[in-house]
Amino acid sequence: MPSLSSDDLPPFATASEERFALAVRGTNDGIWDWDIRSGEVFFSPRWKNMIGYDDEELPNTFATFEERLHPEDHERVMKTVKDYLDGPLDRYAVEFRFLHKDGSWRWVLARGRALRDAEGKPYRMAGSHTDITEQKVAEEQLRHARLAAEAANRAKSAFLANMSHEIRTPMNGIIGMSELLLNTSLDPKQHEYLLMLKNSAESLLSLLNDVLDFSKIEAGKMELDEQDFDLRHTIADTLLALSVRAMQKNLTIMHKVAEDVPVILLGDDGRLRQILINLVGNAIKFTDRGGIQVAVRIESRALDKTTLHFEIHDSGIGISHEVQSRIFDAFTQAESSTNRRFGGTGLGLAICRDLVELMQGRIWVESEPGKGSTFHFTAVFGEATHDSVDRPAASATGPLLGLAEKPMKVLVVEDGRVNQLVAAKLLEERGHCVEIASNGQEAVEMVRDDEFDAILMDVHMPQMNGFQATAAIRQIEDKHGGHVPIIAMTANALKGDREQCIAAGMDDYVSKPIHSAELLHAVERFMHGRAAAPPRLEIAGAAPQITKPKKRASTAFQAETFIAAAGGPEMARQLIAIYAEDSVKFLQDASTSLAAGNSIALYEAAHSLKGMLGVYTASRASETASHLCHLAQDGDLFGARALLEKLKKECARLGAALASLELPE
Ligand code: ADP
Repeated sequence: MPSLSSDDLPPFATASEERFALAVRGTNDGIWDWDIRSGEVFFSPRWKNMIGYDDEELPNTFATFEERLHPEDHERVMKTVKDYLDGPLDRYAVEFRFLHKDGSWRWVLARGRALRDAEGKPYRMAGSHTDITEQKVAEEQLRHARLAAEAANRAKSAFLANMSHEIRTPMNGIIGMSELLLNTSLDPKQHEYLLMLKNSAESLLSLLNDVLDFSKIEAGKMELDEQDFDLRHTIADTLLALSVRAMQKNLTIMHKVAEDVPVILLGDDGRLRQILINLVGNAIKFTDRGGIQVAVRIESRALDKTTLHFEIHDSGIGISHEVQSRIFDAFTQAESSTNRRFGGTGLGLAICRDLVELMQGRIWVESEPGKGSTFHFTAVFGEATHDSVDRPAASATGPLLGLAEKPMKVLVVEDGRVNQLVAAKLLEERGHCVEIASNGQEAVEMVRDDEFDAILMDVHMPQMNGFQATAAIRQIEDKHGGHVPIIAMTANALKGDREQCIAAGMDDYVSKPIHSAELLHAVERFMHGRAAAPPRLEIAGAAPQITKPKKRASTAFQAETFIAAAGGPEMARQLIAIYAEDSVKFLQDASTSLAAGNSIALYEAAHSLKGMLGVYTASRASETASHLCHLAQDGDLFGARALLEKLKKECARLGAALASLELPE
């Protein structure tokens, strides 16, 4: 027996163990000492106190320990003991729940060492028990608090995402309806108020979209939607949409895509567009003089991946070095007065940064206050899965109207077949010679090789739109001289369109659906050179009928207006013949785009349908198509689905009405 009289000392303590025993006496730990050969275990009184017992209440056997282990921890603890004694573990330390006399569970940390004989066989093991219940409870509380906070944050983001999504639907209704109202007769004050209403609704919608995106990113729900797209088209189209704002501030927007950048890429062009709209939108917002340049080039190419480098340069107010470092954080604006002066929430760049990161790229800025800023970003794109370039269709001929005084050579630039046919036929009937280009790029090439007396230019086209093609043609003329009259054709019957076309270097403007008198008038004005007074053009029989459709006429379209606008029954017959094919094609494009969640492609298809339906004077269907354009622009694919179904029905009804139309010989 040991000479020490302490309670806490095992009965078989040696001198070195006495030191150990003395050391632990000062701690709150309980001591155990297990004689593996006899199975006897010494538990110090403190060991027993820790679980509510007096020394004599518990027998000194292994069972005293084992029986008090929590059933869920039992197996694990026994395995740890065994693994330590048998060798795989070189330390014995294990946490478990241990039964207290009062029935509660205490958390215990057990540590120990074994003594081994010459063969390494353990014959004795001793160690301590530490009560870690408080620490465990605190840890558990912390874990709970963290989980609750995370859940609350996710719930908040989900709530924000749901809310902003839900609010978007009625917002689209408000915007759509105010657009329809704007097309009715209003007095100037009403018109002004309505425009303000629509502008406010639009800024609210873009704010909602920002909040929606941001909360989606926060909730980790933002995913890229990849498909083949034409990068040049996306850029041109995005810049076109922004050009109105730039024009209002007298700023130029130029862009250049390096020639070696592939035509078709695989990626999320909707999100790319969003980044560009944000960056170019900011550039316009913070620039008062000069202009904005957008440049795209290849940064690197590896296997089927292309990394592009985008640069958006402006000559605006610039950003101080100190602010540059935090400009990509959410809710950051350069100075507190920014919001008052320029509006905005400070979310745009934060969203751009997240989107760019999703595209495996990075974003940064270089700027000198007072001199301007250049925003850079990179993004990785895949290789296109298929090629998608439209070919122009040939047009038919046949006399309709009297011949023009002098034949002209006219280039018709238009991507829709129906409109190509209508314009070409009308002009050819008048004795003019017509060539067709199905996009801006082709038009520019044809102008380079040939001379034309006039160009009819669609504004909205794939590859290169009408504004860009006009700019390119004017550039050629700056070098080589000359000035070919360019007449814009656009289905966007918005106020200010004319001004926009003229500002883009065009000479005149006709609205789609094409009306024969208006179109011929616009083209033939330039028959004797630009300065000449426009010749008056009469089309016998057409005018009075236009305003007086028969009572029994189909509601799907206005038969007489249609025939008159087509310039006669012969042309009407041809238009009817191609109706089914074209409408099915565009409707199919719309369905496919919708299924793919591609709102830009949906917009293209709806836009083409709108223009085409106008030719058939199908005002209701054309309006539905126009509404679909707006939904596509706003990315409201949910609303678009229902509307597309409606449009399909209207197109089918129009098809049936056209088929049963009796045309005079
Ligand atoms: P918002 O424009 O909605 O305020 P952003 O995140 O897009 O939010 O931009 C944050 C801030 O960065 C802007 O408020 C502005 O102070 C600054 N900024 C962004 N782009 C430019 C730029 N091209 N020129 C000058 N300042 C800019």
